[in-house]
Amino acid sequence: MKPPLTRVCKKCGEEKPLEEFVKCSKRKYSRTHNCKVCDRIHKTKWRNDNIERCRELRRQYRKDNPEKFSAEFYKQYRKDNPGKNKAASAKYRKDNPEKKRLAWEKYHKDNPEMMMRLSAKAFLSRKIGIPTAELPEELIQYKILQYKLHRKIKEHETS
Ligand SMILES: [Zn+2]
Repeated sequence: MKPPLTRVCKKCGEEKPLEEFVKCSKRKYSRTHNCKVCDRIHKTKWRNDNIERCRELRRQYRKDNPEKFSAEFYKQYRKDNPGKNKAASAKYRKDNPEKKRLAWEKYHKDNPEMMMRLSAKAFLSRKIGIPTAELPEELIQYKILQYKLHRKIKEHETS
């Protein structure tokens, strides 16, 4: 049997083309009986009503997919190598106070990406209220992109 061209939405009662309905492989003709507009309204409402639950889902996802969050990886590394970097860098600082300052300045200049990353992490940590080590990599990347965008806009303004 050929699929019908239109379907009536169970929520708003409007007749719409089949492709305006939410995809679902288990349903007849691979579409649900809710149109995309109603679905979006429903989802937004659900999200607003379940902010806590959403947060919980995200947390659970992070827990189930640690490999996707490199921060988790570094946390583990620090756990497995306690004090390793700390002790070494403290000694270096003590032995080379002036060198350290110059190195830091050079580092700033040579590593704009890394500086953006640090700023992004500090910003997000403040904004969301979770430790920098627990920030999802995705968010950090978004923030860095924003910095880059601002930088590009400035370049256009001054040129
Ligand atoms: Zn509808």
